Amino acid sequence: MMMRMSYKKFPMEPDKQIALVAHDNKKHDLVEWARFNRDLLAHHKVYATGTTGAILEEELGFQITKLQSGPLGGDQQIGAKIVQGEIDFLIFFWDPLEPQPHDPDVKALLRMAVVWNIPIACNRATADFMISSPLMDGEYERLVPDYEAQQNRKIPV
Ligand code: PGA
Repeated sequence: MMMRMSYKKFPMEPDKQIALVAHDNKKHDLVEWARFNRDLLAHHKVYATGTTGAILEEELGFQITKLQSGPLGGDQQIGAKIVQGEIDFLIFFWDPLEPQPHDPDVKALLRMAVVWNIPIACNRATADFMISSPLMDGEYERLVPDYEAQQNRKIPV
């Protein structure tokens, strides 16, 4: 029998909290994309991993909250912020052709985004569709599965 899932609603404000991350071979792509969408991005609160953030701040000319560099824990910081409800939108241009020293963190970040039903764009085409969505500048209720059963599960001791 299919289990019926219940959900909790997490409201997203019109001004969103957006995280931007790009691996080195994808930074150029992200910079071009962000430059093109600068004015749209400017009225949201933007977070980024350290190096990505420093480059973007310089290019875009507005303040970005810079976390640690990705390989030093920045991806995990973003994951933690998703869990705490402090990030509700993720643009993550990861490199599909090169292994990263922090591959487990990359996987963990993508997993957290799915667990908390955060929109994620992993390439430019998806990022274009997401940023031009009419939902972008309105309120939106993000449905997150009610994880109470997970928290209250019986552990044999
Ligand atoms: P960086 O990290 O912005 O510090 O280069 C990106 C990443 O690899 O997650």
